[in-house]
Amino acid sequence: MSVSTSIELDPFKLAQALSGLNFVAGAFHPAASGKTFAVNNPATGQEVARAPFSEKADVDVAVAAAKKAQKEWAKLPARNRGKLVAECGRVLSEHVEELGRLIALETGKALRTESRIEASVLADMFVFFGGLASELKGETVPFHPDMMTMTVREPVGVVGAIIPWNVPLLLMAMKAAAALVAGNAVVVKSAEEAPLTVLRVTQIMNTVLPSGLFSILAGFGPECGAPLVEHPDVKKVTFTGSVETGKIVYKAAAEKLIPVTLELGGKSPMIICADADMDKAVAGAIAGMRFTRQGQSCTASSRIFVHESIHDEFVARVREKVDAMVMGDPLDEKTDIGTIISDGQFDRVKSYIALGRETKGATEIVLSAMPTDAKLDKGFFVQPRIFTGITNNDRIAREEIFGPVCCVIKWSDFDEVIAAANDSDYGLAATIWTTNLKMAMDATRRLEAGFVQVNQNLVVQPNLSYGGVKASGLGKEASLESMLEHFTHKKTIIINMQ
Ligand code: ADP
Repeated sequence: MSVSTSIELDPFKLAQALSGLNFVAGAFHPAASGKTFAVNNPATGQEVARAPFSEKADVDVAVAAAKKAQKEWAKLPARNRGKLVAECGRVLSEHVEELGRLIALETGKALRTESRIEASVLADMFVFFGGLASELKGETVPFHPDMMTMTVREPVGVVGAIIPWNVPLLLMAMKAAAALVAGNAVVVKSAEEAPLTVLRVTQIMNTVLPSGLFSILAGFGPECGAPLVEHPDVKKVTFTGSVETGKIVYKAAAEKLIPVTLELGGKSPMIICADADMDKAVAGAIAGMRFTRQGQSCTASSRIFVHESIHDEFVARVREKVDAMVMGDPLDEKTDIGTIISDGQFDRVKSYIALGRETKGATEIVLSAMPTDAKLDKGFFVQPRIFTGITNNDRIAREEIFGPVCCVIKWSDFDEVIAAANDSDYGLAATIWTTNLKMAMDATRRLEAGFVQVNQNLVVQPNLSYGGVKASGLGKEASLESMLEHFTHKKTIIINMQ
């Protein structure tokens, strides 16, 4: 089976060309069982392709090829590996438009506001990590004058990477680029809702990398994800997904005593102080809430604490701006907001909206407008929502919704708002908007989160360590330290020269 690597800008055709395939051991293959499952366009509910229902037999083939390829890959000078990883980034950068369209088709994320940007960050991650190859350095230790004592960084071997559907390109790139540069092989298990674009990326990367070094399998958690984690030759697992699944993965890794990195959920607080620059804070809250991604982000600022003196003005300003956003076909350049990923998530988000309506004191504010195009009638569109009048103790403010539902909570006392922000199982990201430097610094020290921002709302950036505390996970990604800590072992060598 062969699919051309030349650029294909029609995502429907590309989806068809990739239908039913994994990319394993250097080539496209269907699942050994021949079983497949549907990949749907969430904007219409229609099937656009099939994906292989991979199982243990497919995992075994991918891991065996990875193990073999890794031995040779690790022998290459680090800079040569880095050059090849950076070259993956360069080649992928030529496919940004194509990858952006395909990811918009399969995830429902709008091309202009989300999908094209994600495709371009994907390429950047490979270029960034490729350049870090020479940083895989050890140390010399002044242990004894007659003993040359040093540490070296060695790869862990075959890495299993399990990714979700919300930003699959970015998350795959963060994991894969770092692991590869460090001398590892990688087998990715894609998310069942979004297997196509990451498959295309793998095909493109395989035009640069040695055969078998980087494989991808589509499939479901228990049948494909679990055998990957449990495989005896997988020596490290990096996982992004829900807290529940993260715990299952952690337990399975503990059985084998292998290290894991876990990027899990969030219910990230954003604090808006009375002295904040209102224009910037409003824009930052809309960006932070990820309304253009239908709120489907673990870092979404889904708990916004607004000082009581500016609460009403803030809500009115957010409302005005989000009302002006266009919901519609993700592939249409006019669209700001696309769809929820799947019927399952659609039902889950709607059940939280129902819960919000039942919450004592809550006021629901419905924003933007449903698309009117009849061909989108069966799409999983949910209008963005704000719930005001609630407290941090309400379920809607405590549980991760992963949808366009934002809780706005009034505050008046700074110590109390910091305590409320920290009163959460999660600790992924936190943001504060204030022009008072002392308050800003105080908050950055006290907020329990892995990624804290003041007066801005950046998403994951190359070389800024990203990852949470508490139930949001273990370990960091996207940076030099994360590559060294999570994708290498430090070996101590003592040479007695006497
Ligand atoms: P989400 O709610 O974002 O889909 P999940 O945690 O269910 O989060 O899924 C994240 C990834 O974990 C997906 O690729 C999914 O298939 C995979 N997964 C689900 N269950 C397991 C499991 N038992 N072992 C390994 N991976 C799993």
